[in-house]
Amino acid sequence: MNIVLLGAPGAGKGTQAERLAEYLGIPHVATGDLFREALRQGTPLGRQAQAYIDRGELVPDQVTIAMVEERLAQPDCEPGVILDGFPRTVEQARALDRVLAGHGRKVDLVLFIRVRPEELLRRLSGRWICRDCQGVYHTLFNPPKQPGVCDVCGGELYQRPDDRPEVQRHRVDVYLAQTAPLIEFYRERGLLQEIDGEQSIDEVQASMREAVIRGQKKKE
Ligand code: AMP
Repeated sequence: MNIVLLGAPGAGKGTQAERLAEYLGIPHVATGDLFREALRQGTPLGRQAQAYIDRGELVPDQVTIAMVEERLAQPDCEPGVILDGFPRTVEQARALDRVLAGHGRKVDLVLFIRVRPEELLRRLSGRWICRDCQGVYHTLFNPPKQPGVCDVCGGELYQRPDDRPEVQRHRVDVYLAQTAPLIEFYRERGLLQEIDGEQSIDEVQASMREAVIRGQKKKE
């Protein structure tokens, strides 16, 4: 299945996508992670994206779409994929349809993780990420066993520079202006399943798996 995760920054997409990907045995493709990796390696793509990421703006569609197109053409994506952080604009959603159609595929399910804006800011402020495996932790809701160290791979945890309060607020505004219209875009196409993102991490995951199973039945 090709699954899109939709939700504001801080809704829990990364944490949930990682678990769902493991459960379904398909890759988790997160555009934010791809950009951060390019940035770390100092590639031309990373240099192009840096200023946008630092300001909490979206990287231009053309650049983002080309990056995703290349990632989706890799053989591990053949059985399906969980897209996290893409599409983020209607233009990207249309491009995704075109790219998938080129592989004889389509978006099968969109899981929209709904969280209220005031809760998003509370979550973003306690977020820590693993430098090596991109695992996501939270000081209050999902603390690592040892502070500063990833439970899974032992990597160093850090706080994203774009999680600074002034950038956070801007990222939520950018989401509301540019990405939230995708909720209707996918609802109209009958693909949208809404998940209450304010349940516990395990409950959100359980709701997502139920939605996937319903989606698989519909597909058959
Ligand atoms: P994320 O890790 O998903 O919060 O993404 C971090 C940053 O990467 C965003 O604030 C954007 O600057 C950039 N980014 C990630 N995904 C996209 C996308 N689909 N379109 C444009 N920019 C993106």
